[in-house]
Amino acid sequence: MKETANKIQQLSEQYRDYTADNLSRLVKIKSISGGEGAVQEELKRQLLKAGVDEVFMDGLGNVIGRLGNGSKKLVFDGHIDTVDVGNPENWDKDPFSGEVRDGFVFGRGSVDQKGGIAAFVTAARILKEVGIPENLSVFFVGSVMEEDCDGLCWKYIIEQNILKPDFVVSTEPTNCNIYRGHRGRMEMHVTFRGISAHGSAPERGKNAIYMASRAALEIEKLNDRLRTDDFLGKGSVTISEIISGSPSLCAVSDYARLHLDRRLTWGETKENAIAEVEEALKGLDAQVSVLHYEGKSFTGNEYGMEKYYPTWKMPEDHPMVLSAATAFTDLFDRKPEIGKWTFSTNGIATNGLFGIPTIGFGPGNEVMAHAPNEKIPTDDLVKAAAFYARIATI
Ligand SMILES: [Zn+2]
Repeated sequence: MKETANKIQQLSEQYRDYTADNLSRLVKIKSISGGEGAVQEELKRQLLKAGVDEVFMDGLGNVIGRLGNGSKKLVFDGHIDTVDVGNPENWDKDPFSGEVRDGFVFGRGSVDQKGGIAAFVTAARILKEVGIPENLSVFFVGSVMEEDCDGLCWKYIIEQNILKPDFVVSTEPTNCNIYRGHRGRMEMHVTFRGISAHGSAPERGKNAIYMASRAALEIEKLNDRLRTDDFLGKGSVTISEIISGSPSLCAVSDYARLHLDRRLTWGETKENAIAEVEEALKGLDAQVSVLHYEGKSFTGNEYGMEKYYPTWKMPEDHPMVLSAATAFTDLFDRKPEIGKWTFSTNGIATNGLFGIPTIGFGPGNEVMAHAPNEKIPTDDLVKAAAFYARIATI
């Protein structure tokens, strides 16, 4: 066992520059959500060169590489899309330089999360050399549109019967620790219909902004009452936007809408989150609804889902978490810290919606995600490639 781990580690180190160069190529190709076409061609090329048996693209534009023919399906998932650069003034250099220097790869998406993808391409190359168990197939998925709607790509892959994994490793950044969950989230609208009247005689009307304002203060109190989980932390709710309407600026407002950003801890579901808001706003004439996402992929496919992203956590003693810990200890000669993400990932679909055992392990620190001057240590890339190869051979 230890022999395989040593061999994997040695190969991953040997392929350090190869991994960094692949990542640099991915970073150089801009791929904001919905515009991943060009980078997916590059990923296909890299996977084929690494030696996978097959690479294909599904109707949404997800690129899927396969190694092996076994009935058990292990998936490495990494989203290839990134957020935009924000204010370019905040960057010290071109966000798409993909520069490799001083032990780092620089640029937008290096941490979130093309680094994880470059690491799994190297893992494919290593696995091609050391072999995988006969009963296993390993899939390498570069997924799309995650930054716009986490989990949408996996809803598509599973509902369209493209691939049904038995295990998923998310390669989102974990600072090379093992993660086993994160809070879920949902977006809600709370709508108020008032009655307009001339602004000179407000007593004739019913002001929707006053209705929404009373409700807003109740939402603030609701936040304090939400439950807490020892591992995932507290559920939360905040108002991210208020919109109102009126026939004129000299009239009583007859329409107002609050946009709620709700973070769901363990045990909180869509149903109970809606019920809590309705209960908190009882008597205030509020209508609560959950939003729907509709997006268009670069392949022209229109696809959507409810903006409900369920909470997920894997039990500490789940066999997959234990295997991950063994792989970690084999390679790095110490016990892993097993944690959670602050942000949300495709795990909301693979585990949250579909119940597939999922863990996370990724290169880079999540504090760099969506931040200017994003950069990833090549040491992390080497560790992650080794970990992915090891967990597939355990
Ligand atoms: Zn991400």
